[in-house]
Amino acid sequence: MAEKTKRIMSDEHKEKIRQAKLGTHCSAKTKRKMSLAKLGKKFTEEHKNKISMALIGRHLSPKTEFKQNHKHSRKTLRKISISLMGRKAWNKDKIHLPNELNPMWKGDKVGYNAIHTWVRRKKGSPKKCATCRKTKGKIHWANINHKYHRNLDDYISLCVSCHKKYDLKNNLLQLT
Ligand SMILES: [Zn+2]
Repeated sequence: MAEKTKRIMSDEHKEKIRQAKLGTHCSAKTKRKMSLAKLGKKFTEEHKNKISMALIGRHLSPKTEFKQNHKHSRKTLRKISISLMGRKAWNKDKIHLPNELNPMWKGDKVGYNAIHTWVRRKKGSPKKCATCRKTKGKIHWANINHKYHRNLDDYISLCVSCHKKYDLKNNLLQLT
């Protein structure tokens, strides 16, 4: 375009050109620019719903479609584990009492563990043995009447040795 023509092109003319270009397809470069501009933009809830409605029943290509027995790559697994961080582990509240060798103990019974977990949750971890006043070592919530009711008053804090003695005494009493 000659210098002269450029000068002649009025604003009105420019506007006409712009109008004429409307509706034409963007070049690949422009499209990329547009997609970059959209990055980070959040969809509204309504928009999200519309998208999810539109995608219902739609089958993706077999390449990307979810497959049974599909194995995630290490990278994906790491991503999943990062996204799950901060969530409460399914086994967090399950406190496992140590296996005691004393056969008098009912440590192998599921109900026994469950009730003690419940007591611990309600009363917290016992800090002091109610009998010998010991504060060191493991201290348990011992069930007073050995009926394992869900009654917090039925439990006293006992250290391991007092607990064993207590249970032994209790069992001996039951035998006589
Ligand atoms: Zn004790």
